[in-house]
Amino acid sequence: MAEPAPHSDDARRRALPSLATLVCVAGLLVIAYAEPEVRVLALATLAAAACAWLVQRGARASRRRKAAKTVLPSPLWPNASVKSVVDAMREPAFVLDRNLALRFSNTVGIQTFGNMVLGDPIAMRFRAPELIAAMAESIESGEAQMTEYAERAPSERAWAVDILPMPMPGEPQPLFFLALFRDRTQMRRIERIRTDFVANASHELRTPLASLSGFIETLKGPARDDAKARAQFLDIMQEQARRMSRLIDDLLSLSRVEMRRRLEPNELTDLASVLRVVAQQAAPTAAEKGLALDLVGLEEDALVNGDHDELVQVFGNLAENAMKYGDGGGRIEIGLLRTEETVDAFVRDFGQGIAPEHVPRLTERFYRVEDGSGRVRGTGLGLSIVRNVLIRHNTRLSIASIPGEGSTFSVRFRRRISGDFGKTVMKQRDRVS
Ligand code: ADP
Repeated sequence: MAEPAPHSDDARRRALPSLATLVCVAGLLVIAYAEPEVRVLALATLAAAACAWLVQRGARASRRRKAAKTVLPSPLWPNASVKSVVDAMREPAFVLDRNLALRFSNTVGIQTFGNMVLGDPIAMRFRAPELIAAMAESIESGEAQMTEYAERAPSERAWAVDILPMPMPGEPQPLFFLALFRDRTQMRRIERIRTDFVANASHELRTPLASLSGFIETLKGPARDDAKARAQFLDIMQEQARRMSRLIDDLLSLSRVEMRRRLEPNELTDLASVLRVVAQQAAPTAAEKGLALDLVGLEEDALVNGDHDELVQVFGNLAENAMKYGDGGGRIEIGLLRTEETVDAFVRDFGQGIAPEHVPRLTERFYRVEDGSGRVRGTGLGLSIVRNVLIRHNTRLSIASIPGEGSTFSVRFRRRISGDFGKTVMKQRDRVS
């Protein structure tokens, strides 16, 4: 609908009183001094002017009444068809009027944020000044706004909120607004994990790097001519350099397995042969530490769906940990436990064990249990790599530990027979990962 230009309307309104006064004065002068016929003419002109003024006043009042009506939202809106569109949305959506009162809430909105009374101010449920300010801004400007909203209780959730004016035919300005909430919780969580990861990785690399620079400074300065100190420092520096290179290897390994974790392996692997390779690799360290290495149930094969090299890496990490953290127990077991359908591969130590509060967190990246010595023995990435490889194998790590008695790390696989392979691949393709 075309609106009269506001400037010309204003100018006309301002000019009108002076024009009316001028006409009245002229009319009165004519009535007072002019000939009778002219007086009649003047009286008629004045009456006509008065009539025109009254008509114009009536028209202005009706325009004002119409304008006032446009800012009063209709109580019948939103109508059934608008409601059904808003209700079909898969994210919480609310229709608000110009007073920021709730006019309609879709089913997902009620499920997510609870029931709200229609007609109540939306600020009663969303006590977030930024969100309310964005809504008010959209009402004032008549334009779409976007903002964010976060809730901590009952659970931590983050939302992107679009406030969209809903134009209606015949109305010069939008009377209703759609507040559309889009869940961003998962995205924020991934962003946070990524930032934490970068911060942790840099911190882990910075520590040995700082130690290396410190020793280089000392060797260039005070310890320049001290042959004994030099030899000692060089040993420490070598250890720090090894730690950095281990960390980089683990980081690369982790990123490789994370990239592949949605691709299930499609080959048959013998778990017994995997564990025999692991035992062979562990034997020199076990001998060095005086640990007995007992192999259980590895005489017969145990076919599973799996990537041989990745499984060697998984059980190699577990065996390494058993020798590193469970060395007080004097022996380690590596073996298989079979049932008709499944086979459990396990690595068991008889060392210090793990306090129960740490167990659920062991597979987190960089998580290490402080042993009180202040010594950093690993990168804290080993079990995270294990976890990711096992996700790809559609199984997971179980940890059972009794402080003072030792720990068992085991993984359950579904058993296969060699003729199974074709069927297995078919089944995997059908499954949604
Ligand atoms: P790291 O490279 O530090 O060994 P892991 O992810 O392999 O990292 O292990 C995480 C932490 O779990 C270790 O720092 C250690 O505190 C604990 N841990 C792992 N295996 C054992 C075990 N067999 N016995 C006791 N503690 C263990």
